[in-house]
Amino acid sequence: MRVIRSPAKMQKTARSLKSRGHTLALVPTMGFLHAGHLALVRRARLMADKVIVSIFVNPTQFGPSEDFSRYPRDTRGDLAKLKMAGVDCVFMPTARAMYPDYFQTQVTVREVSRGLCGDARPGHFDGVAGVVLKLMNITQPDIAVFGKKDFQQLTVIKTMVRDLNLPVRIVGVPIVREKDGLAMSSRNVYLSADERVMARGLSRGLKAARDAANAGEARVAGLISRCRAELPRAPQIRVDYVACVNALTLKPLSRPTRKKTLMAVAVFVGRTRLIDNAVF
Ligand code: AMP
Repeated sequence: MRVIRSPAKMQKTARSLKSRGHTLALVPTMGFLHAGHLALVRRARLMADKVIVSIFVNPTQFGPSEDFSRYPRDTRGDLAKLKMAGVDCVFMPTARAMYPDYFQTQVTVREVSRGLCGDARPGHFDGVAGVVLKLMNITQPDIAVFGKKDFQQLTVIKTMVRDLNLPVRIVGVPIVREKDGLAMSSRNVYLSADERVMARGLSRGLKAARDAANAGEARVAGLISRCRAELPRAPQIRVDYVACVNALTLKPLSRPTRKKTLMAVAVFVGRTRLIDNAVF
């Protein structure tokens, strides 16, 4: 497994692999890898000859009061996991190499970056779109693999790829969960033992809403209140949003449709902001 830090060297390596006829898959991550990330790697390996994983905690997608400086890191552990998973190449640039002085370009994918996490995290999806476009230009993938855990991110990237005619196929992988339903996330490490128990409420709420929808609940307000009822009433819990939107456009729904409904939640558990979602 090659570990490459320089964007120029990564681009040269990718071009050389492609010129030898290999197909490439990119899996972008911010490191502190867990089984969710490794599911993306497995999917990438099934779909391309060579797999490139990027590890980059991207400063431009964090707000000023967010957790950029304390975001968990474990480079040694990550590299061991990726080697075991059969990854061909790890791209690990520095922030300085990605954003040298006088960096000026911003990528905005307008409509789908609004609402849900876009409201709570202004500029976040500009940061995500910008870095993913850079990573794609650097690693030249035929396929890029993302998790459905970050559903709005996946939608932003699919939209950018379509709008800009990028020659990359975007693949979405289902959410990988802990045994008790909590969606895996690098940020789960922040949770205290009590908070970890309370965090079960997110996936339970989504399940309760799905069950209600299957049982014929036809009001969005009904689904939302079923979901909210599963979140513990405790001072550590602060709901950012519980929303039902059209899964394609991410626009709010006034009632569940026969088309796909995305139910998405973002909840602070203590200082940790957790997200989860379900499509039904
Ligand atoms: P992150 O390192 O959190 O930026 O995530 C990198 C990629 O892994 C993104 O495409 C995420 O959607 C995906 N991912 C993170 N957690 C999960 C999970 N529990 N299940 C599936 N994909 C995930």
